[in-house]
Amino acid sequence: MTNLSHPFRKKWGQNFLRDPNTITKIVNCLQPRQSDNILEIGPGDGALTRHLSNQSKQIHAVEIDPLLITQLEKNNYPNVTIHKRDILEWDLNQLKGEVKIIGNLPYYISSPILFKLLAWQNWERMILMFQKELAQRIVSNHGNKSYGRISVMCQVYCEVKIEFIVSKNVFHPKPDVDSAVLTFYPKDKELPEFNNFSNLVKQAFSQRRKKLKNNLPEAYKSGKIEKWANSRPEEISPNGFIQIYNLIFVG
Ligand code: SAH
Repeated sequence: MTNLSHPFRKKWGQNFLRDPNTITKIVNCLQPRQSDNILEIGPGDGALTRHLSNQSKQIHAVEIDPLLITQLEKNNYPNVTIHKRDILEWDLNQLKGEVKIIGNLPYYISSPILFKLLAWQNWERMILMFQKELAQRIVSNHGNKSYGRISVMCQVYCEVKIEFIVSKNVFHPKPDVDSAVLTFYPKDKELPEFNNFSNLVKQAFSQRRKKLKNNLPEAYKSGKIEKWANSRPEEISPNGFIQIYNLIFVG
């Protein structure tokens, strides 16, 4: 375990990986090839970056903390472009062609980052680390307490699975909770238009305990969702939501 020479910024969700085995396991999940273009979110001081640099063609690393950027730049990796930006404001369309995405995500904005990546869609694989509780919500099945909007959005657009749990003890500084590494593959079948579907799911879950006829009053009044009127959002599977979308938007 080495200590870093810069102050930790709690506000930026900084927990740095310090265990070589965990780092290798995460990078292996990405299955990097020499022809790959990779987006790394929040490289920090480069725990993952140095491995990725040896195993891929080009890495775009987006990092917000100027002190970490200075440190990263000292490494002079020939194939790493460092973008000094907030990932939530960064235009993903700067990346040309398909990319793989990797990141030990800053926990305070993990969900908005994930939604941004889902909406963008132009990736072939993502390996992302989340706090364990959020990871469990992402993969949760309908009927469970932890099933919600983020589960539906991830499971409709991706094949998603928990690869392994990462103990809080392998980070510095040590976070309060364990983490989990998830892999995402895009589904290649025809899927609902993202923005309309996303708004629909958001509205359907606006009041978890209420029935769909209350959460989607307009669709209900128009007679389109009768079959689902008395279901609660948490009881409806990802495929059920696709059916509801088709009833409302496709007819
Ligand atoms: N990948 C490193 C660091 C992970 S900690 C490791 O595993 O050791 C999360 C990283 O995300 C930190 O470096 C933090 O500064 C960065 N970060 C936080 N908010 C960000 C934002 N909005 N945009 C880009 N990077 C951000």
